[in-house]
Amino acid sequence: LPTAAPGETPVRVMTIAGSDSGGGAGIQADLRTFALLGLHGCVAVTAVTVQNSLGVSGVQTIDPEVVAAQIRTVTSDIGVSAVKTGMLATAEIISAIADACTEVGIGGGGVPLVVDPVCASMHGDPLLATDALDTLVGRMFPLADIVTPNLDEVRLITGVDVVDADSQRAAARALRDRGTRWALVKGGHLRGSDRSPDLLFDGDDYIEIDGPRIDTPHDHGAGDTLAAAICSALAHGYSMPDAVVFAKRWVTRGLESAYPLGAGHGPVNPLW
Ligand code: PLP
Repeated sequence: LPTAAPGETPVRVMTIAGSDSGGGAGIQADLRTFALLGLHGCVAVTAVTVQNSLGVSGVQTIDPEVVAAQIRTVTSDIGVSAVKTGMLATAEIISAIADACTEVGIGGGGVPLVVDPVCASMHGDPLLATDALDTLVGRMFPLADIVTPNLDEVRLITGVDVVDADSQRAAARALRDRGTRWALVKGGHLRGSDRSPDLLFDGDDYIEIDGPRIDTPHDHGAGDTLAAAICSALAHGYSMPDAVVFAKRWVTRGLESAYPLGAGHGPVNPLW
């Protein structure tokens, strides 16, 4: 992506997401990608997770009004060219975010919005209240330019079990029916293949974005990093297919150079 000259204000983006104290996923992964790509990353923190490489052992959510205030305060002064959401934690926080985004023109055809519908960590620790999924889909999907669920999230949201190319298409259609402009069904967790075929759908055309499946235990934050890279490319005016192709390469590189950390799963490490 193009970078600003020294002393020049870079392109600004914002992540609305949770903190990972282990520094691998969440806001920390998003800010790493924004910084490495030469963007200025702003933040609306939704929750603080108590987390290391072995998993999440605690969550403290932020007052919904404080989450909304972060969005309003950043956009009224600094301004952002694209936004991504990650861990949104509760239905009350999601409603406050959707209201604030609508008010300031994020999503819904305004500032591009990437919604990563985070439900749980890869260890299975919940990152979204069980009663909040309907609110996440009902409030955020209609605002979203793209949603980027993994296969577990696809199953929870649509009931479709993605096992092959046909069910991946059915899932993409079902996601789009819930209001998003583009749906991305990631194939990275499809077992028994050395490829990781992602499927992008805008209601008319299916675009397959293929890449190698990188087999590593150190994939913490891979989903966050993909969504943050899509957000970064959209902020630079890329088309959605170009943004997703770019982000896929970014995450593939990140998985190739991921490193061990602690006794559990290390983080993806995107290096260009
Ligand atoms: N912690 C936070 C705060 C996150 O936002 C996420 C994912 O979005 C995770 C953990 C989970 O990351 P992973 O599925 O890579 O473990």
